[in-house]
Amino acid sequence: MIELLVNGIRPEPHERPFWDGARDHRLLLQRCAACGQLQHYPRSVCRHCLSDALDFVESAGNGVVYSFTVIHRAPLQELRPFAPYTLALVDLDEGVRFTSDVLGDPADVRVGLPVAVDFLDVTDEVTLPVFRPVLDPPRRQP
Ligand code: ZN
Repeated sequence: MIELLVNGIRPEPHERPFWDGARDHRLLLQRCAACGQLQHYPRSVCRHCLSDALDFVESAGNGVVYSFTVIHRAPLQELRPFAPYTLALVDLDEGVRFTSDVLGDPADVRVGLPVAVDFLDVTDEVTLPVFRPVLDPPRRQP
């Protein structure tokens, strides 16, 4: 059961706001107060300037698939009921790359596919941000 896997998640203090946000169905990205850069995953210092003045801002949760792989043989027994599933690198509109699942039929996933964040409430404590294809995205203005 995937519940057993997420029960092993023990956030460090600098990761706690991310997981609290996910539980509230908000995708939070860490922002450096010194240089303004965003980063994910949460770290104890900024990966750009090493400042520890970090806070969190909410992402709109929209992005495109940068790359992906389809997992046919899950590496852990707890994940086998979900196979085949898609593990993707998603480039969020805010400029941050995020690793997660893209739900739905893996055959529908392609590089450049627009996706939007969704949230899987796995336990009372742990919610996983995942992505779903945006089938009819609004046209972007040139
Ligand atoms: Zn910085």
